[in-house]
Amino acid sequence: MLMLRSLLLSFLAISAFAQQLPNSSLLELPPRPEQAAKCPQVNEWSTPAEKSCYRTTPRYDETMDYVRRLAQAAPRQVKIENFGSTGEGRALVAVVVSRDGVFSPEALHRAKRPVVFIQNSIHAGEMDGKDASLALLRDILVTRTEAKLIEQAVLVIVPIYNADGHEHFGPFNRINQNGPEQMGWRTNAAQQNLNRDYLKVDTPETRAFLREWNRWLPDFLVDDHVTDGADYQYDVTFSIETDGPASDWIHKTLEPELFRRVTASGHVIAPYLDFLGRTPDTGIAAGVSTPRFSTGFAKQQNRPGMLVEMHMLKDYQTRVTGNYELLRALLAVVNRDAPVLVEANLRADSETIARGRDHNGTLALRYEPTGETEPFAFKAYRWKIEHSELSGAGWVQYSHDPVTITVPRQTTLKVTDEAKIPAAYIVPAQWTEVIARLELHGLLLQRLTKDWAGEVETYRCVTPEWQAQPFEGHHPAAWRKGENKPCRPSREKMDFPAGSVVVPMDQRAARVAMQWLEPLGPDSALQWGFFDSIFEQKEYGEDYVLERLARSLLDSNPKLAHEFEQKVASDQKFAASPHERLNWFLQRSPWWDQRIGLYPVGKLDSIGPLPLSPRSSRTDTEAVSGTNR
Ligand SMILES: [Zn+2]
Repeated sequence: MLMLRSLLLSFLAISAFAQQLPNSSLLELPPRPEQAAKCPQVNEWSTPAEKSCYRTTPRYDETMDYVRRLAQAAPRQVKIENFGSTGEGRALVAVVVSRDGVFSPEALHRAKRPVVFIQNSIHAGEMDGKDASLALLRDILVTRTEAKLIEQAVLVIVPIYNADGHEHFGPFNRINQNGPEQMGWRTNAAQQNLNRDYLKVDTPETRAFLREWNRWLPDFLVDDHVTDGADYQYDVTFSIETDGPASDWIHKTLEPELFRRVTASGHVIAPYLDFLGRTPDTGIAAGVSTPRFSTGFAKQQNRPGMLVEMHMLKDYQTRVTGNYELLRALLAVVNRDAPVLVEANLRADSETIARGRDHNGTLALRYEPTGETEPFAFKAYRWKIEHSELSGAGWVQYSHDPVTITVPRQTTLKVTDEAKIPAAYIVPAQWTEVIARLELHGLLLQRLTKDWAGEVETYRCVTPEWQAQPFEGHHPAAWRKGENKPCRPSREKMDFPAGSVVVPMDQRAARVAMQWLEPLGPDSALQWGFFDSIFEQKEYGEDYVLERLARSLLDSNPKLAHEFEQKVASDQKFAASPHERLNWFLQRSPWWDQRIGLYPVGKLDSIGPLPLSPRSSRTDTEAVSGTNR
């Protein structure tokens, strides 16, 4: 008791102490070996972070002021675009940089000049990329030491994507992170994580992003973050997700170049590190980002997406300059190899279109590691694990004593779920929220001009359980463990009213539509709960009615009695529920609603026989009406 009390008192003392200091003080550790660098020399073009010697990061207004000064200094090469508004009404700003003042996406695509989209501060407490981007823009446009980085490439840089989160500014937003003194918050003002919203599009920020993405159709996406997780020597980690024709160039040329160039700049770089357990010796996991994430989304758009994760415990100067060096290296290689990247992306688009036209392939939806590993020389800090009387478990304590250890790294993944590519999907007109997302994704759609009924391929799904805790404002479907294929393909005759939406698969963003409409896709509309009502029984039989029904069914079908007895004998929960027992008979009668669990979206082998409007994507204003602009 006494010990508990003194523990409690010292905890309160620590809390009181922490209230007076930035959260980085919780990381009171011996000086870190990489900590260090000297403050940069300051001049009129120093970035706000440089001016403070990386103690601080600029707020939204100060960032935009700096961006406007850059635009004034190089008016021919810079265009500032407002591409939408946040929930709280802040302008979302992109800085477009073009060597010769060509800012038309169509003209640039025609000239085969790569468009590189660099977004920062999607998690606004992780703003390293913002300060790195300001310095990079200055060195491209003003000091011109890096002017060569726009010889071929055109940059679309979003300094602060999550602008509302960024202005939820304070010293206590990132407990794991070593500076700057204050920073923004992870989510937008409605507590939505924008880096889970790329497919389901719940937020005004994602709606704005999709307009900007579809307008620019970039050749390469960069998404800058800061890690959480273990401590180690690396300050720069990254991964590039790709599965198309660009893969060869990325793995054989770009990635080795990034390692070489960033290492030469004095930073310590590794592939993105996701450990199988708490500590690095457990091994490095292989994984795939689902399309809820920026990089997973880019891949479904046939474009490479690079996740940058700066290490949270490195000082802010090390992190910002490391992020800068990675961007500089990337842009150097993209400029040098511009035709390779652009051609690969165009090929990826035509391959997607061809697969939709021939509709005989499959799209991978889920993966798992094969178990194959290779040894990886990992630059660790020595750690020890002591028993913690507070947690009752092991307490991992990292030193700053560098050591290289060999750990297993997973190398390969296998597909565990895939879906057949149809000629088109057909979504009944009444599923307006599902259709709205297809429109926001800029997909080419057609509409039924009159009612149509026909046989389509679809799915019959068992009723899922739903996650008890909300996740991103939803309670996603979670099928019972061991449930094998909860949705099974089924050919059904279905009715589609006029206005139903047909999504042809011979279009470049077809994979986005498939991820949204295939019920077993990890981020599908069904997973996020947009189709929950198909699992609800809407009419019930009174027990005295069902008792009569059951008896008449049993009289007319003796096999049913045997089936029923077996069910009662084998399923305790069922046996104990009078409602389920009587409902079992309703399910075997013509009164049962056959649509329960029937997925309402159809997959078509051909759209030939359908009465259809011409293809179009909705314009910006139509697609965003009702949203905050
Ligand atoms: Zn992040």
